Amino acid sequence: MAYVITQACCNDASCIPVCPVNCIHPTPDEAPFMRTEMLHIDPEACIDCGACVEECPVEAIVAEDELTEEEEPYRELNADYFRVHPFDGAPPDFESPGPVEDLADLRVAIVGSGPSAFFAAMALDDLRGPVVQMYERLYTPFGLVRYGVAPDHQTTKAVTRQFASLHRSKTFTLNLGVEVGKHVSHEELLAHNHAVVYAVGASSDRRMEIAGEDLPGSHAATEFVGWYNGHPDHTHHTFDLSGTRAVIVGNGNVALDVARILLSDPEHLHTDSDIADHALEALRNSRIKEVVVVGRRGIAQAGYTNPEMIALCNLPDVDVIFDPSEVRTDDVVQHVLDDEETESSVDFKVRFAQEHAGTGTGRSKRLVMRFLASPMRIHGEGRVESVEIALNRLEVDDDGSVSATATGATDVIDTGLVFRSVGYRGVAVPGVPFDERRGVIANEHGRVIDPETREQLRGVYTTGWIKRGPSGAIGTNKKCADDVVKSLVEDFLAETLDSPASSQEDLDETIASRQPDRLDFEDWTRLDRAEREAGGSRGRPRIKFIDAGTMLDVVRSGRQALDI
Ligand SMILES: Cc1cc2nc3c(=O)[nH]c(=O)nc-3n(C[C@H](O)[C@H](O)[C@H](O)COP(=O)(O)OP(=O)(O)OC[C@H]3O[C@@H](n4cnc5c(N)ncnc54)[C@H](O)[C@@H]3O)c2cc1C
Ligand code: SF4
Ligand code: SF4
Repeated sequence: MAYVITQACCNDASCIPVCPVNCIHPTPDEAPFMRTEMLHIDPEACIDCGACVEECPVEAIVAEDELTEEEEPYRELNADYFRVHPFDGAPPDFESPGPVEDLADLRVAIVGSGPSAFFAAMALDDLRGPVVQMYERLYTPFGLVRYGVAPDHQTTKAVTRQFASLHRSKTFTLNLGVEVGKHVSHEELLAHNHAVVYAVGASSDRRMEIAGEDLPGSHAATEFVGWYNGHPDHTHHTFDLSGTRAVIVGNGNVALDVARILLSDPEHLHTDSDIADHALEALRNSRIKEVVVVGRRGIAQAGYTNPEMIALCNLPDVDVIFDPSEVRTDDVVQHVLDDEETESSVDFKVRFAQEHAGTGTGRSKRLVMRFLASPMRIHGEGRVESVEIALNRLEVDDDGSVSATATGATDVIDTGLVFRSVGYRGVAVPGVPFDERRGVIANEHGRVIDPETREQLRGVYTTGWIKRGPSGAIGTNKKCADDVVKSLVEDFLAETLDSPASSQEDLDETIASRQPDRLDFEDWTRLDRAEREAGGSRGRPRIKFIDAGTMLDVVRSGRQALDI
């Protein structure tokens, strides 16, 4: 019997070091790691020791004889990886930790508190010495794990448990409600630290740049995601769910998350998710029966990952519709599958779509996957009434890449609700060089640079989505953060970083004068506990606090109880 990695895998690679036979791949030092949709266990090599199960923060590893019917596709998905990347039986090759240097003087500020920020803080904490201050603009930590990851993916959200270990660290401080650029400037942070690491994520979105995009009824998926997850910046939005069809432009995982939330049974969302109360109420009154997901290119280029599609196909009462003519293996698809660079996940994706192609089984709701279609304009008198799409065909270019070309044919999809899900985009932090074209902080391997001269800005680093752009799972940020911390420590030991000009106490005083309501890790544990207790009393995993006033009240009464 072997073990199998399933849906919740977030690529954090915690399982790899404990595997005695090195049969979990790709490892962070293997080329496919940064683009893999999940990790895989080789069923032929696994010796069934179970060591990896304990290490997995999201309970993604399951014994193959305990796979549920819904999890069955993962058996094939795991095995497939090793057909393209055969297991070579090589023993694990872990980097041995270098000699322990004296890092006790090193002071680092980390901006943001999403996965990349916490992975960077944990890497620094492992070095035992560096003093780390983390600054987060919201009153709650964990970035997109709290406000992006879908509310019905509770096991994925459990990844934050490993970050809680920093609560006990004497050299780590979490500052919540402190926005860099508002309560403290980049220059002030840099003057008080050897290094500043920007891990601010990608909070904005890309536009479609088509006519009608700003009509009422046309929204960014980022707004809907923030709204259903209770993000304070997005709770004011309203979405008209009175029509029967919604259209989502783009077919990445965010698009599929939005589709799943729109089509899920609200009673399931009540018991198995921490969806915001206002969203749950709106979804209970929703009349949406069909969601059409529109992708510019073909099935082999689809942006979603297999686990996301498997989750959708497991929704009760929802037919997932693939048009057989759009997902067949034509010459272009065959060209992609024959390419030795093509990952096994693409092969699986094509096969899975072909196996599910058809007109559905008459369930009450439908997800319609449309390929080879680009939005041209959104029509409507005063609000969205339809989306016009151009139909495409695929061509193999001279360099072997595949591109979409309009055939000249068009189609119109009637709908009152359109979401664009064509990519997240970073937002500039005042004083920090920004690459407008890519929507990321200008950097070379995480060292922030002046985009004109390409010279490194001493002591300034970046990691996560604001460094690489909006791609990769939660755990992908771990390797990214580890690499940046390695560079930072190298620079510190090479004595190329400026020493702090004054004490942390001075900086704390300055920040307190501008933001008297700063919260810390202990305050967050109070909020966390209160949210869970509120959820428990209503049969839910948690009920999120939405507005800052309530959060501050809960924290104050918690502090008063302890007479702080
Ligand atoms: C809708 C959605 C669903 C996803 N689902 C999954 C999933 O199921 N599984 C999975 O593995 N991955 C998932 N991901 C990917 C995962 O969330 C990202 O890989 C990860 O969150 C990126 O981490 P980050 O730290 O770079 O950015 P973020 O998580 O965005 O964190 C950035 C933090 O910086 C803070 N910040 C921004 N500006 C400032 C400032 N000026 N001062 C102080 N703080 C600031 C923000 O408030 C935020 O808390 C999903 C992503 C999205 C968008
Ligand atoms: S069960 Fe043991 S051998 Fe199998 S993948 Fe996990 S750690 Fe490796
Ligand atoms: S979440 Fe991490 S520990 Fe769990 S299977 Fe995926 S990579 Fe391994």
